[in-house]
Amino acid sequence: MQALILRRVQGDFSGRARLEEVDAPSLEIPQDVLVRIEYAELSLEDHRVVTGQVPSRAPVILGRHGVGRVEDPGPRVDTDRLPPGTRVVLDTVVACPDIWPPEKQSLARSQFCPDCESGALEQCTRVRPGPVAGQSRDGTLAGRIVLPQGSLHVVPPELDSKVALLAPLLAHVQRALDAVGARPGLRLLVIGGTPLGLMTIIRARDMGLSVALTDPDVVRTEVGREFVERPAWALRVQSTRDNPADRLREDVFTLNKSLENSGFSVPCDAVIDALGTHGDRGLYLCRPGGRVAVVGRESPCGPPILRWQDLVAQGKSLLGIPSGKGHVAQALTTMSRGLPMLDKLSGTAIESTLLPDLGWTRLGVDPQTGSRESTSIDRVPVVFPHQ
Ligand SMILES: [Zn+2]
Repeated sequence: MQALILRRVQGDFSGRARLEEVDAPSLEIPQDVLVRIEYAELSLEDHRVVTGQVPSRAPVILGRHGVGRVEDPGPRVDTDRLPPGTRVVLDTVVACPDIWPPEKQSLARSQFCPDCESGALEQCTRVRPGPVAGQSRDGTLAGRIVLPQGSLHVVPPELDSKVALLAPLLAHVQRALDAVGARPGLRLLVIGGTPLGLMTIIRARDMGLSVALTDPDVVRTEVGREFVERPAWALRVQSTRDNPADRLREDVFTLNKSLENSGFSVPCDAVIDALGTHGDRGLYLCRPGGRVAVVGRESPCGPPILRWQDLVAQGKSLLGIPSGKGHVAQALTTMSRGLPMLDKLSGTAIESTLLPDLGWTRLGVDPQTGSRESTSIDRVPVVFPHQ
């Protein structure tokens, strides 16, 4: 099978990840399933793995998201739910509950490791190889993948595969929305017009929230205008002050003033930071008692600026949401009910044979140096040929 393999984390960028012909993985655990990949995705998460910003074990097959079909279920897989040929979306953060079928997971709870028992599924060390596909175990950018049966979610027939590929993204966003107490009328500020940010806006508006967007990047801000209720609620704010604390204060002041002038009442109730670099701004932007959830993982642009006294005195919360683990099935249900504008996020697919160069270029990454020179919202769905 074809696979995009990261052989080593050291060395020049162009030599690190290559499309190679390798043997397909084999089933070793009876609750595992061999899945034939239809669509995978190259994303900035893979760029972070290749550049060493996210730890990984090399050699490793890249790719965090995928949709495929059950090819070979192991002997202890529930084949009533997952007969061969079933189309599934892959939840690639693997934890020990995943070795049981979903309906039996609650019964087996006493057998979870302490991390999974406490809900910290991403830290599970019991399922080997490690928990996250594309980083510590082989990922989706390959003709085939082996995953535990509980990590596979059946795609409703009416849902297009390329849209279903977005289910883990929606699941991640849903966890963040739940964490900030999303309800109709809540005023939410989204930081970052990335795919995670735009998905947050789509789902938040669907749930009846009032949503504004800010992004330091001009291209992403322009793209975001189409997703918010009023174009004036997507704003690029970037102060010219030198001192980071002054810059933060000016950003917060300018943004709030502009939003208020266009009819969005400030301060907002909650913030979701889809960049992962602006949690401090989020805390100053939300009202006393407000909540900030961070979902993005871009490289930090500097140390956070926080007066902890303000945080304590005003009872604000800062929450990190690592993935959509546990919410993928719900996300598929939400999607099959119909969610506007999802097609705008699904992107144009490329053939696997064009990996990795064209994929990196589409992500705004220079395939030779690995530097990210332009911003883009493009995730890159990758089609694997049926073999
Ligand atoms: Zn565990």
